[in-house]
Amino acid sequence: MAAETLHELFVEELRDMYDAEKRIIKALPKIAKHAQSDELRSALTEHLRQTEKQATRLEQVFKSIGETPKGKKCDGIIGILEEGNTAMEELEEGPVLDAALIAGCQKVEHYEIASYGTLAYFAELMGHERAKDLLGTTLEEEKAADEKLNTIATSEVNREALMSGGEDEDEMEEDEGTPRGRRRASMAMANERSSTRGRSARKRGGSRRSR
Ligand code: FE
Ligand code: ZN
Ligand code: FE
Repeated sequence: MAAETLHELFVEELRDMYDAEKRIIKALPKIAKHAQSDELRSALTEHLRQTEKQATRLEQVFKSIGETPKGKKCDGIIGILEEGNTAMEELEEGPVLDAALIAGCQKVEHYEIASYGTLAYFAELMGHERAKDLLGTTLEEEKAADEKLNTIATSEVNREALMSGGEDEDEMEEDEGTPRGRRRASMAMANERSSTRGRSARKRGGSRRSR
């Protein structure tokens, strides 16, 4: 059914997100299980609880405008989750997979932020005050979840991903606490990578990807 009015479009988009949240609820436990970082795993578990509440909140939005809660296959989220599945199949658990999981989860959050931003605005335009408040609450939660993932990525996971797979880790550890030591370490990594392409991946024995 193609939407002909803003109200119909609003309902269509609500159904899209209702389906999306349910798929995210199903996907998150597996993603959390594959996370190596404790901080990442607990953030994902926490967001799972939040996502369950978001699905319930959408039911309240449907009811507040006199519609029955119903989902409609969300191809966007299906695609993003599918990419995450591929990463989990191809990469061994570790910092690089963690970095990939964060990248995928942030794509999910951005999809949600775009959708809830639009939905909250539509609700406001049409004077659905209750719906606007509920959708605004979820929008803020998605933004916070995205920020949290940013913090985990930049404070811990991405640096570990950069350091992993290197051969001079012991040597680097001595001065990795100083900014200069870190810079030197990442330069060493970059050099090592360009001169021994493919070797470190094979050495790790982890990656099932064939180059
Ligand atoms: Fe959500
Ligand atoms: Zn969709
Ligand atoms: Fe979310």
